[in-house]
Amino acid sequence: MNQGPSPLLWIVTAVVLSAFTSFFVAQFAAPKSGRAQSDLLTKSSPDFHEWLHAELAITPEQEKALASIESQFERQRIDLLERIRVAGQSLASTLEAKPDDSESINNCLREINSAQGELQQVMITHFLDMKEHLSPSQATRLLQWTRESITHDR
Ligand SMILES: [Zn+2]
Repeated sequence: MNQGPSPLLWIVTAVVLSAFTSFFVAQFAAPKSGRAQSDLLTKSSPDFHEWLHAELAITPEQEKALASIESQFERQRIDLLERIRVAGQSLASTLEAKPDDSESINNCLREINSAQGELQQVMITHFLDMKEHLSPSQATRLLQWTRESITHDR
């Protein structure tokens, strides 16, 4: 009576295979591209930002005055990096699962671009906020390095 594998076995096999595929995608494809995205930014912007603070020779008094805008900037930066990471992951899984779905792919790309744009905006605003607490010569150097970081993509 029972000839060949039962339909249930096929269903189970299909589920296991798709689970394995999503595991594979989650383990390899998605984190890799997500990490690449945030690496790009953690390498450029925050390193530049730290370098900037060190190079400006910020005094302890200035650090104290800057503390609240620094922590606000840090929160915004973390949120935006997370948005970029999540969008990068969903781009990777869309490319894997629905490579012909150009609308979903474009939505992911738009989200990545918009979060990156906001991050740049937040950084420039932060530099201008910082400038208020600096001496005139520190402020001049800050503006110069900010301009250079934009034009040379430091
Ligand atoms: Zn700062």
